Amino acid sequence: MASDLAAQLLLGCGRFLGEVALSKAAHRRLNGRIRSCRAVRASVARQRCTRGNKGAAEKFTLGSRVAITALLLTVCGGCKARRPAAITPQMDVAAEFLVRVLIADDVSACKLKGRSALNVIGGRADSEETSEAMRFGDSKAEMDVTISRGSITVGGRRFPGDELTVCPDRPHIFALNGKEYRGKLRIVVNPGRTSFDAINMIPLEPYLAGVIGAEMPDYWEPEALKAQTIAARTYCLYIKRRFGGGRSWDIKKTQAHQVYRGLAAESAQIWNAVDNTRAKVMTCRQTDKSEDIFPAYYSSTCGGHTESSENVFGDSFVPLSGVACPYCERVARPKFFFWPMVQFGTVEVTKKLAQQYPKLKEIGEIVEMTPTGKSEYEGFTRLTRIKLSGSTGRSDFLRAEDLRLTIDPTGRRLKSTIFEIMKLGNNWAFSGGRGYGHGVGMCQCGAQALARQGKKAEQILAYYYPGSRIVSVY
Ligand SMILES: [Zn+2]
Repeated sequence: MASDLAAQLLLGCGRFLGEVALSKAAHRRLNGRIRSCRAVRASVARQRCTRGNKGAAEKFTLGSRVAITALLLTVCGGCKARRPAAITPQMDVAAEFLVRVLIADDVSACKLKGRSALNVIGGRADSEETSEAMRFGDSKAEMDVTISRGSITVGGRRFPGDELTVCPDRPHIFALNGKEYRGKLRIVVNPGRTSFDAINMIPLEPYLAGVIGAEMPDYWEPEALKAQTIAARTYCLYIKRRFGGGRSWDIKKTQAHQVYRGLAAESAQIWNAVDNTRAKVMTCRQTDKSEDIFPAYYSSTCGGHTESSENVFGDSFVPLSGVACPYCERVARPKFFFWPMVQFGTVEVTKKLAQQYPKLKEIGEIVEMTPTGKSEYEGFTRLTRIKLSGSTGRSDFLRAEDLRLTIDPTGRRLKSTIFEIMKLGNNWAFSGGRGYGHGVGMCQCGAQALARQGKKAEQILAYYYPGSRIVSVY
């Protein structure tokens, strides 16, 4: 969902070195981390050296070189202080807190590997209808998972039925296509019986450990990371409960929901944020007067004022009405806060819109885009609704956010809907860009600015989600 911040992060070294506003506390933590990285690597080199074999000195030199290179890479990448993979917690959690993440969609083959023995159970693991069980004791070699004649084969062994579950022994970690995840893996055959979905069944807390580090730099202020964790926990439970009932998975691992990268996103700082907010979610007063969770959206850089959810997603909750945010400008990189004009070919735009919204085929080539809904703020305007007029003389309307993500699905060029639209020759041009992301709910760069001022996670959340309360779900 808010991976626009992650997109800024992908610039890694440049972003890190260019961030002049890094607080003193962050500097202290970073320097401490560099020292601890050095200490660990020096200790590894010493151990190699004291083994006393013939090539020890050579190994030491090589080891040092590798260590220095690794240190430089680590510092440039934000110095992830990885802790050894602890045993996955919460493996016996109730089903309502087990997150089913779609990690491979509609595929016909994948590679599976374990750190420990893998137990593969045919049929539904949580029912009596298990058909076949097989233990792969030596799972460290990669196994093929394929589908043929409607059945799944794992490591050469065929499992009849529409579904199977892979349960790794402790520490409950497996790798799918080279990426490690905690929890279990469920393979579900699709209706056409020529492909399957891979679903990671993971308890809520370790799931969040795989999300927060993908959504926010782990060297940001601990209180910003905690605020981010509570928002992500709330959002996940809401999406699971609202949409998970009618399908075999709850949430996607992409920005369509919130970015999840499994073990690769974990670090000591991220686990601290998860552990220190354990079970905490936000609730608000619902239209039926009950108190319940809500979709706690968040985005990278609101540009100066967060937006009402109703204008962007069509749902309405009091904490998602929008607040002024004079904070993100202090943290976001200038080129993400104010972004330059971007252009897209008129033919390409008509084609993309017609593909995404077949009803738009009726209006023909789009000849005019007129904003009909906008939110006016001090110094800027966010477009919320656009009228599309076509060559056939007909017209239709789209939410500005839907238009943006259809024209640029990554959202990396057309970064927000704070823009002006004009036609330049054979292009649609979007100028005056400001902010990054949909702008609803917590502004991540704003949260970091508030945390630098000494605000606690609870205060940050109360600011961006006014009217919300924090409660524990277990
Ligand atoms: Zn903001």
